[in-house]
Amino acid sequence: MPSQEQKPVVLLIDDSPSIHRLLAYKLKNEGLEFLAAFTGGEGIELAVSQTPSLILLDLTLPDMNGLDVLRALKENPKTLTIPVIIISSNNSSQEKVAAFETGAMDFVCKPVDVPELRARMQSAIRFTRMMRTLEQRACIDALTELGNRARFDQLMNSELKESERSKFPLALAMCDIDHFKRLNDTYGHPAGDEVLRTFAGILTRSIRVYDEACRFGGEEFALIFPNTRMDEAVGVCERVRKSLEAHAWTRYPDMRCTVSFGVTDRGISGSREPYAWVEAADRALYAAKHGGRNRVERYSEAIDETLRRAG
Ligand code: GH3
Ligand code: MG
Ligand code: MG
Repeated sequence: MPSQEQKPVVLLIDDSPSIHRLLAYKLKNEGLEFLAAFTGGEGIELAVSQTPSLILLDLTLPDMNGLDVLRALKENPKTLTIPVIIISSNNSSQEKVAAFETGAMDFVCKPVDVPELRARMQSAIRFTRMMRTLEQRACIDALTELGNRARFDQLMNSELKESERSKFPLALAMCDIDHFKRLNDTYGHPAGDEVLRTFAGILTRSIRVYDEACRFGGEEFALIFPNTRMDEAVGVCERVRKSLEAHAWTRYPDMRCTVSFGVTDRGISGSREPYAWVEAADRALYAAKHGGRNRVERYSEAIDETLRRAG
């Protein structure tokens, strides 16, 4: 997803080279980057691959009806939220109604009044920025600034597919702060929140850039390690465990805080489904808690056997 500092990308889908030249010239100082498509097919392809901030769409195209292009853009989840401004030489109210009903954000008539188009484009780009910020925020946990549960579900799905395709290993760790309820009760919720934020910071500093730490919920976190074997993942968890144990809490000098981990490189019963991986890591985490906490346990069939016996 492009950051807000990047130049907004505007895709112009129009078969007339003169409008491409006109806008490139008149809007050259607007801090925009233009992408050019001269047919509907080309436009849809560029919209999907480049996800521009804004699309300007002519309704009369050589290969497709512009409204069909608009429909295709609005049906694809990748392009659904990109605002589309129609630029048409047909000024009829019927045409405008059809465009708005199909999902256009705005409608401008040819010949184009450039200052008016510029203002409408800026307003549409502001809308995209807001949408993208909201989309990003929807996947971030506000307290720790890590990915949230929705982000974890998305990532775990895609990493499982990728590891299936590439045959590279994958590891998952679930971790849970030890006796967190007691810690909250003893030192208060602000202390608990500080633990969660500090732990998130330790996680972020301890993992590689292509690993991901998410807040799974409450005081539980999930670590996804793509292309990583169990031993390496256990090594990272051990480092994190030691860092939290050794952390000096300047505001709460006598506070001690530890964390337990369950690590897996497979799902229960050999399943490739995300829930089966979470279940396997959870079983190992449960074993870590029962083994005395402040430790890292690996998932294995032996753990399944112990849990079965314990009922
Ligand atoms: P265990 O060692 O077995 O994991 O025990 P625990 O006390 O950590 O586990 P338990 O699930 O009983 O308690 C979890 C506590 O986490 C209870 C809840 O109030 C607290 N908690 C969950 N989310 C937050 C949060 O965002 N901030 C704070 N301060 N506390 C939270
Ligand atoms: Mg806990
Ligand atoms: Mg818990």
